[in-house]
Amino acid sequence: MKGPILTLNAGSSSLKFALFEPGATPVAGPKGIIDETFSAPRMITKDPSGRQTSERTFPKVMPFPELVREVIGWAEDQYKTTLGAVGHRVVHGGSQFTAPQIVSDKLLADLDALVALAPLHEPHNIAPMRYLMECNPNLPQIACFDTSFHRTMPVTATRFALPLHFEEEGVRRYGFHGLSYEYIAERLRQIAPERAAGRVIAAHLGNGASLCAMKDGQSIDTSMGFSALDGLVMGTRCGTLDPGVILHFMRRYGMGAAQIESLLYNKSGLLGLSGLSPDMRNLLESKEAAAKNAVALFVFRLIREIGALAASLGGLDALIFTAGIGEHSPEIRKMTCEGLGWLGLSIDDAANARNDQRISAAGSRVDVLVVPTDEEYMIAKHVARAVGAA
Ligand code: ADP
Repeated sequence: MKGPILTLNAGSSSLKFALFEPGATPVAGPKGIIDETFSAPRMITKDPSGRQTSERTFPKVMPFPELVREVIGWAEDQYKTTLGAVGHRVVHGGSQFTAPQIVSDKLLADLDALVALAPLHEPHNIAPMRYLMECNPNLPQIACFDTSFHRTMPVTATRFALPLHFEEEGVRRYGFHGLSYEYIAERLRQIAPERAAGRVIAAHLGNGASLCAMKDGQSIDTSMGFSALDGLVMGTRCGTLDPGVILHFMRRYGMGAAQIESLLYNKSGLLGLSGLSPDMRNLLESKEAAAKNAVALFVFRLIREIGALAASLGGLDALIFTAGIGEHSPEIRKMTCEGLGWLGLSIDDAANARNDQRISAAGSRVDVLVVPTDEEYMIAKHVARAVGAA
């Protein structure tokens, strides 16, 4: 393959992109983001070290294909050559897509059928693929799914206690953040091979947050389920909620699906609890009682879910913190680990404060590590493999 790999990660209001030189170990190049895509699009680009290289605001809201065209133009200008291939992060692969797929008309039709399972995210993931298929049909495109890594979960862990026919219609636990967990499993084999072969919980704590229980690098349980709403308290999402609350919303307040969806996805979590911000940094800095309560519930539920996954694993050898909060917040890591002392886990306060890779104390029965995640790298690696550049 000639030309660089472009990765695209289209979220509900942002488009993240990154360039890689192809190879078995793709080399990271410049990257960027267009945020506020539906209000005032702004494109920021960075060099491989993370230093900002440009900022551009667009005069008006632009359709997604036009934003993708801007990114392609930028990308081809970086290496003064046409792209070799594009990799897409796709939230939902349903039960059928357990590995990355080459984008084709057939795949796009299959993904259209999955929109019902992830209505807020899947259309944003599909739009750039369809646009590139139409305007550049010879450009290889690879779809990489956030659900695929959880294909190894035992069937019991994927089930809801509902009448069985719903499972056949796709109502089951899938799990998400799979590209992040796949990267963590791979990194762990390099930095702590003896632990990678054991019982590991990875905590991906970003704006979205989830846990993955891995045995020998394979997912056996996870905190997210049918949708990316389940499990931990998140920036604006509620996490686990008694389904009776939703029935109550409908009966007591006459709320419909769209209203409940907006409440649970966009107005709950740390934002809803604090009334201040979805951003953990702001809450940790705040003196307000509501901010402290929000942080307390985040940590309480995190400890409880780690306990549940440790039970699924039958014990715990290593706990990995990753993503924005996991990589950068010694306070959250400390509070969490203090609640897990019963697992034989203790942390080294100085190592934790320094954001060291290993933050467990010398005598801790469980290793605690901070491992920065890199979903873009994982996508680039899948692309290189799929198009024969690895
Ligand atoms: P996304 O899921 O959008 O990729 P990130 O992985 O970037 O999100 O995580 C964003 C979260 O990380 C925010 O809540 C932010 O406050 C938090 N975060 C980033 N740096 C720190 C820090 N130094 N201390 C506490 N939280 C932090």
